[in-house]
Amino acid sequence: MSVLKSRYKRPTRPYSQKELSDLHNKNLSSLGIGFTNVCHTKCGHSYYVKTGGRKERLIKESNNDRDIGNCSICWKMGRTPPELRSYANEIINAYLDDKEYEMNSKENRLVHRSIELERVFFTWLYLEAY
Ligand SMILES: [Zn+2]
Repeated sequence: MSVLKSRYKRPTRPYSQKELSDLHNKNLSSLGIGFTNVCHTKCGHSYYVKTGGRKERLIKESNNDRDIGNCSICWKMGRTPPELRSYANEIINAYLDDKEYEMNSKENRLVHRSIELERVFFTWLYLEAY
């Protein structure tokens, strides 16, 4: 089954900020991504790039994170089977909204649901094969 169809499961106990931070870092590193971000101005998509990849190198070398290569989200969307596209769209929009909210909020509080959403989003983007 596609990760896009997985339903969010609320944790059965409270998580401390430390635990959430560990979970966040663990998810990203197991997906092979770091905190290097790329933005594509035409489509408005932005996401973390793979660690050690070409995009990461170009971003670091040029000190610029805009319009490096093609947009992976648009590319992946083109490969996603039509019956999954509405699920993918929902995840993309929720992920981008969350990210915008986090960047604009002063207190950097981690939320379990956002961490899980991010994991689903990047699993679709980088791991799911069709
Ligand atoms: Zn795009």
